[in-house]
Amino acid sequence: MELDKIIDGQRVAKERKEILKEKISKKYLELKRYPRLEVILVGNDPGSISYVKGKEKAAKEIDIIINTTHYEDNISEDEVCMKIIEFNNDPLVDGILVQLPLPKHINKNKILNLIKSDKDIDGFHPENVAKLYLRQPGIPACTPKGIMILLDEYNVELSGKNVVVVGRSDIVGMPVSKMLLDRNATVTICHSKTTNLKKHTLEADVIIMACGQPRLLKEDMIKNGVVIIDVGANRDSNNKLCGDVDFDMCYKKARLISPVPKGVGPMTICSLLENTYLAYLIHNNIAED
Ligand code: NAP
Repeated sequence: MELDKIIDGQRVAKERKEILKEKISKKYLELKRYPRLEVILVGNDPGSISYVKGKEKAAKEIDIIINTTHYEDNISEDEVCMKIIEFNNDPLVDGILVQLPLPKHINKNKILNLIKSDKDIDGFHPENVAKLYLRQPGIPACTPKGIMILLDEYNVELSGKNVVVVGRSDIVGMPVSKMLLDRNATVTICHSKTTNLKKHTLEADVIIMACGQPRLLKEDMIKNGVVIIDVGANRDSNNKLCGDVDFDMCYKKARLISPVPKGVGPMTICSLLENTYLAYLIHNNIAED
């Protein structure tokens, strides 16, 4: 296997976290406080618990203070709202993250909209979404931000290129499409109702797979020299973690390809930490460094 074909998200994330740690230690000398992130977790979904643990570990490694408020499944919506209001009003809290999914009796949009936009380090608040579409500075969604960083790290030319994004979710497909469009790519967004997906992917110079369908992208759907970013985090029928790309099949034809795991996943966490630092700068009236 040619290792230089593989987009190593773990390496990029590690390097960026080291830089971030240094920035935080310098800012601590000036401001006498570390960035602080408050996580709200509702229920006992094993996936959510494991994601939160990963975020806690990563934050602690770079001196971001992270606390998790863990509620039982039957907590009322009002109580979660009250906690968010408390964190919104606390000047020492830089970021608030509500781990999704939430139980059905809690209105996700109501919760996410309540978080102050300058503490919304997930980049899901309507104000941050609008700022992305209006090209104003805001807090960007983590996974799309991580994808763009990876493309830049590997010097992937985007201007004038055909980019196909498979998936149109609010958290990945749509925001990454806008970011790519802003970099002058010609973007095609595909989804579950797209007829003949292959016709689109065959034309693509870059493919972003974010549809949650195990190994959907096959060798006969891509052209030689394509760059593939696999966002998918799925379990196959053998309960093995896999992406939306059939890596073994697509690897040979691709010029660059991100694996699952160790591709986009570490970049999402890295972006979350960078966004927390960004919010910390905003709260201390410091321009981004
Ligand atoms: P989502 O909300 O699950 O939506 C899936 C999108 O894919 C929808 O737009 C859907 O189309 C489209 N889709 C579904 N089946 C398709 C098919 N056969 N062909 C073409 N499009 C299809 O998406 P998401 O939350 O963005 O998640 C996507 C994947 O990324 C999941 O595996 C998720 O676990 C993973 N993920 C990973 C990270 C990470 O950090 N690594 C972060 C976020 C998500 P419709 O709109 O028509 O329904």
